[in-house]
Amino acid sequence: MHATQDDDSTGRPVAHVVVLGNTNVDLVAYVPREVAEGETIIASDFTIGLGGKGANQAVAARRAGSAVSFIGRVGTDSFGEMMLEGLSQEGIDLAHLEQIDGPSGNATIWVQPDGANRITVFLGASGKITPEAAEHAVSTHSQAKFFVSQLELGHDVVLAGLGSAKSHGMTTVLNIAPYSALSPEMLEHTDWLIANEGELEALLTDVGIETTLELSPGELIEQVPAWSEAIGTNVVVTLGSQGALGHAAGSEPYFAEAPKVTAIDTVGAGDCFVGYFVSALNGGHPWQQALRSGVHAASESVQRLGAQASYPAAEDAKRFTT
Ligand code: ADP
Repeated sequence: MHATQDDDSTGRPVAHVVVLGNTNVDLVAYVPREVAEGETIIASDFTIGLGGKGANQAVAARRAGSAVSFIGRVGTDSFGEMMLEGLSQEGIDLAHLEQIDGPSGNATIWVQPDGANRITVFLGASGKITPEAAEHAVSTHSQAKFFVSQLELGHDVVLAGLGSAKSHGMTTVLNIAPYSALSPEMLEHTDWLIANEGELEALLTDVGIETTLELSPGELIEQVPAWSEAIGTNVVVTLGSQGALGHAAGSEPYFAEAPKVTAIDTVGAGDCFVGYFVSALNGGHPWQQALRSGVHAASESVQRLGAQASYPAAEDAKRFTT
């Protein structure tokens, strides 16, 4: 069951987690192997599902029990209707998910038998949100505790959201996916930075630390505090089938090991992690427990097809949050 939501004076639920980001429809072809340049191969299966890093993280946080508001844009096409309906069925506050003229965002995805994937995203309506609109939408959630964003939208939009969230006393979480170089201002406004191995390696290079993350968690854990200090935020790095490592100022680094499972589709696994991690923090759990919650929910999701479709259902969320 979803956690109880407080209502404001208009009866609208008060969101505790505000997510700003891209929502798109995923067009997923399951392919027998990698497609070479100039080649046509026959896919073994195809699905249409709901995705986009922002919407995925909002859905994961909502299923994990938090009251969530999503800030974004959809188009006036049938994909837009699908997303409005899907996100509304999750019980997410959509007061700031505007429908605007033009096509919705979509992602074209190829998934191989071992679960590995290749993705291109067309932002469509999601790319039309302005920094001013993002700043205003965040400011209407003065009672929210957490703000979450990613890097599918323009950095100016994300920075406006982060700045507004900090000025309203929220804890900010930035998932630096897909990675592109961050301004110092974005890092200054970030409390928790979440990355996968490739994204963290790229960020560390940009802040002047040449390193490799192709080491065991036991070797990496010793380095996390130095990275966290160089970046200036608390840091979480997800390590695929191994789990995730984290470090927060004032505490020891912590490694949450992933259960051994057979992955068939890892699309959106990182987003599932982010949503469950933030929701556990929002529930008042220590960050180490939030890390375990994120890892266990994400490792469950890789055993099912799709992004949002693969996330643990709200009825099952307790198994991953305690
Ligand atoms: P991203 O999807 O952003 O690239 P990761 O690949 O690090 O991020 O995966 C995020 C989380 O998903 C991991 O911390 C882990 O919990 C889970 N996960 C991903 N791949 C696997 C796998 N093969 N087996 C078990 N869990 C996995």
